[in-house]
Amino acid sequence: MKSHAKGVVIGGGVVGCSVLFHLARHGWTDVVLLERDELTSGSTWHAAGGMHTINGDPNVAKLQKYTISLYKEIEELSGQATGVHLTGGVLLAATEARLDWLRGVVSKGRYLGIDLEVISAKEAAELMPLIDPKQFVGAVRNKEDGHLDPSGVTHAYAKAARKLGAEVERFTKVEDIVRRPDGLWRVITNRGDVITEQVVNAGGLWAREVGRMVGLELPVLAMEHMYLITEDMPEVADWNKKTGTEIIHAVDFDGEIYLRQERGGMLMGTYEKANKVWSEFSTPWNFGHELLEPDIDRIAPSLEVGFRHFPAFQKTGIKQIINGPFTFAPDGNPLVGPVRGLPGFWVACGVMAGFSQGGGVGLALSNWMIEGDPGADIWAMDVARYGDWATMTYTNAKVRENYSRRFSIRFPNEELPAGRPLKTTPLYDTLSAKGAQWGVAFGLEVPLWYAPEGVKDEFSWRRSTDFDHVGSEVAAVRNGVGLSEISSFAKYKVTGEGAAAWLDRLLACRMPKPGRMTLAPMLKEDGKLIGDFTLANVGEGDWFVAGSGVAEQYHMRWFEAHLPKDDSVQIKSLGQKLTGLAIAGPKARAVLAKVTRADVSNPAFPFMAVATIDIGMARCLVGRVSYTGDLGYEIWMPPEYQRAAYQALITAGEEFGIGMFGSRALNALRLEKNYGSWAREYRPIYGPLEAGLDRFVAYGKEAGFIGKEAAIAERKQGGKLRLRAFIVEATDADVIGDEAIWHDGVVRGWVTSGGYAHNAKKSIAMGYVPKEIADRPDGFEIEILGKRHAARIQATPLFDANFERMRA
Ligand SMILES: Cc1cc2nc3c(=O)[nH]c(=O)nc-3n(C[C@H](O)[C@H](O)[C@H](O)COP(=O)(O)OP(=O)(O)OC[C@H]3O[C@@H](n4cnc5c(N)ncnc54)[C@H](O)[C@@H]3O)c2cc1C
Repeated sequence: MKSHAKGVVIGGGVVGCSVLFHLARHGWTDVVLLERDELTSGSTWHAAGGMHTINGDPNVAKLQKYTISLYKEIEELSGQATGVHLTGGVLLAATEARLDWLRGVVSKGRYLGIDLEVISAKEAAELMPLIDPKQFVGAVRNKEDGHLDPSGVTHAYAKAARKLGAEVERFTKVEDIVRRPDGLWRVITNRGDVITEQVVNAGGLWAREVGRMVGLELPVLAMEHMYLITEDMPEVADWNKKTGTEIIHAVDFDGEIYLRQERGGMLMGTYEKANKVWSEFSTPWNFGHELLEPDIDRIAPSLEVGFRHFPAFQKTGIKQIINGPFTFAPDGNPLVGPVRGLPGFWVACGVMAGFSQGGGVGLALSNWMIEGDPGADIWAMDVARYGDWATMTYTNAKVRENYSRRFSIRFPNEELPAGRPLKTTPLYDTLSAKGAQWGVAFGLEVPLWYAPEGVKDEFSWRRSTDFDHVGSEVAAVRNGVGLSEISSFAKYKVTGEGAAAWLDRLLACRMPKPGRMTLAPMLKEDGKLIGDFTLANVGEGDWFVAGSGVAEQYHMRWFEAHLPKDDSVQIKSLGQKLTGLAIAGPKARAVLAKVTRADVSNPAFPFMAVATIDIGMARCLVGRVSYTGDLGYEIWMPPEYQRAAYQALITAGEEFGIGMFGSRALNALRLEKNYGSWAREYRPIYGPLEAGLDRFVAYGKEAGFIGKEAAIAERKQGGKLRLRAFIVEATDADVIGDEAIWHDGVVRGWVTSGGYAHNAKKSIAMGYVPKEIADRPDGFEIEILGKRHAARIQATPLFDANFERMRA
């Protein structure tokens, strides 16, 4: 075994082998994979081997499509059969709500190039003969469904990687990982050490244990999972004989079942409600090729539905039940990427669908390690979407919830209860008493809307119980003044003698003068967005930065990776050590003036001013800015002052009829201003010109900034896409995000977010279309729940297009 390598991949399951292959294919051949046993000694060997392109996140779906397309290449390169059967499949809906969901999936598929088609239950039964069509209301046909041989695929990746020059060391157990003073990693194994720059944790069932070697508690947990294989079935034999083809795959969401042909019988797996965690705290090292004890009682309710939906199963015997463990992250998507604070340490774990996702994970990670960028939008898989708050107990609650809901519908207005409330601000009880309906962002409870006594969200794809109440919250802001909790923003403090110069280079904007704020896009070397912030020059070398709350860990990883080595700059993420309130609306200044002795008149405290001001008795940092697009203020205070500040504002606001507003009202307000937001409109695949943030980029900045050359090139060439706001002729349902945008009868773009703008009384969608059609006056349609609705571009904001309110 070599003693030095450019990179070490720990784990020879399907994921580790894919990472190794992709590193080697990308040119890194001085890499070695260490496997404690034979390859496939974790969850990989007993997988059902199903693969599919569908995923809730379109970017993950793209990587799944890539994974499936890769099998031919690795088979040819390695000479190892992968056993791929691209049978196609049907996704079945037993309820209208499920069919609505499937229509959304089809709409997403259109711009992803995934060939999906809504069909009737009868048509589904013609394609898949075991279905009782009376049990279903419709289905979707997917041609890119199939199964493969899990061991064959894993060995094909490994052999192909070896052919390209990478090495695989079996029976080599990593026992510890130590960071040396020179920054290299010492990977300690039972067969000696390997010194390396880069370590990848692809430890699968043991990813937690490998993480713990470097002091990391990863939010992953294994669950037991069962599938059964039937005796040979005459129905299967007849179909094979009659058509010369295999029986296609089926997913019966309402039965929580997936099916496929296995030799002369069928394989049926289920994500049962009464699920079971496996190895809650640590995974035994002596676990390997054994299976777990099947427990038919646990899956009996699903089987009952299965027997009803697929009657042929009633007449057949069960040949074998497989029960094996595999890992999940709290939201069911993989954990991929570099780990904040551990330079050169990467994770590729929590991959619950290794045969659909393994290739995409390997591709993204190898790009990231070699090029410094994953080369795709992989936010939904990024390990940085979790922070320290994702503890073992939280993970346990969320993984169990996610497993039991694997095939359940999640409505756009549905908040999942497990693991909550976890982080709350001091106002939690006060706002709950006012009817706050809570959502969650980066572990923190955030008010979505305020419900009158006895009213709560009715889950639906369509406008629901909250509609009129959110409308009233919007009206309170636009007609008077509203107050909201804004603690869920990420907040950073930047200090030190080098702070100004560092921020100037990191952010693409011009630096604001003391007492002023600016909007601050942050770019990568390739000129695409990696953040968008509000930057405040608080004075005396202090800088305050506010950004997307869900991206706190993501941005801290970026900031820290770009800090100068000489300690001249300090950056601190303030988390909930700084809480916030916002007031907005034409009466906002009147309210503020009542609670402070500071001069907050327009000349003294104009738009984009920032100052430390006492709000009642509480010292706060106040910025004159509002995401509502109205006259408004963001007010920041340590948590111990939040209640006092809140009380002062509410009391002062009484005479102006101050109302509470939540994040749904905020969404309605920002939509009529054409404001985008991070993780929706602004993501690392768009340039500032495409995203409409170019007006905040100081292209001529002498000091330069990261991504400057690429941003200038984008401006010259014009980029490819444009973000646009559309008014949609929708009646009872608005866009959620990820719907297809049609132009002249062809799918040309996708929706990033939207909703109903109550003040303007319009249904709005924001989304990207090719620049060539971005200024066309007509011809657009936006698909909602399978129906195309006429849409037209709204170039200027519907509210306050001339900034008269905002700057008044
Ligand atoms: C019953 C069942 C059915 C499934 N069906 C499907 C399906 O139909 N489709 C699908 O896509 N997925 C399916 N899965 C999930 C699939 O198995 C996983 O997504 C996949 O195996 C994850 O692979 P991995 O490489 O991340 O982890 P693992 O397969 O667990 O591999 C990790 C490897 O790392 C090695 N390792 C760990 N620690 C060390 C160390 N310290 N030193 C050296 N080596 C180490 C282990 O020995 C192991 O070989 C199923 C799983 C189960 C249990």
